[in-house]
Amino acid sequence: MMSELIKIAYLYEDLMNTYGDSGDVKILSFLLKEKGYDTKVDNISLDMEFNAFDYDFLFFGGGQDFEQSVVATDIKRHRQTIQDYIEADKPMLCICGGYQFLGKYYETSGGQTIQCLDILPLHTVFKADSRMIGDTEYKTEWGTVKAFENHSGRTYFDDKSKLKPFGTMIEGYGNNPDEKQEGMRYKNVIGSYSHGPILKNENIARAIADKIIIAHKERVSSNIK
Ligand code: GLN
Repeated sequence: MMSELIKIAYLYEDLMNTYGDSGDVKILSFLLKEKGYDTKVDNISLDMEFNAFDYDFLFFGGGQDFEQSVVATDIKRHRQTIQDYIEADKPMLCICGGYQFLGKYYETSGGQTIQCLDILPLHTVFKADSRMIGDTEYKTEWGTVKAFENHSGRTYFDDKSKLKPFGTMIEGYGNNPDEKQEGMRYKNVIGSYSHGPILKNENIARAIADKIIIAHKERVSSNIK
């Protein structure tokens, strides 16, 4: 039997890939291969056409402020397809700058406010006193995660009844220095400040790989009419 092809969209891979984030996609491809699936990863970059429902998984990595400002000018075109994909319970992992993009806006350390996708009720602000940088450790529903963070943005939820934190901090900052919470969960979306890459934490990687296989089976069966 031919191995089945899982399709992954890596949003702006050439611009959003700080601190080893592209390793997340490589780890997923490895785990999916173990389960009998080949993967095809498409870099969805500037000016490209994109329909999220052609994919079984969306990945959005971290970026520096300049790259985020470039992506912001292009990504608005894809707001609806990304929102529909998320609302349809499909899996997505967003790291740092990619996570910030799901919210309303991101204030850079240089004083610029970048308008983001405004899909989820969160926003990211800047305060001059410190950059959040260093090792992190936190508890999640799938067990402990150890990673690395490096961000100036402080993320806050605007509707705590809609979003859940991804983890509770043991070491490091996570979303901001005030709440001791790391990242965000909404449906099958995880947002996180964790680089390293985060999916070197096999517990999280395996949980996401399982969700991708479910999404893949749904996509393939909905294409057979
Ligand atoms: N530029 C953003 C910040 O500093 C995101 C950084 C990142 O993705 N590592 O908050």
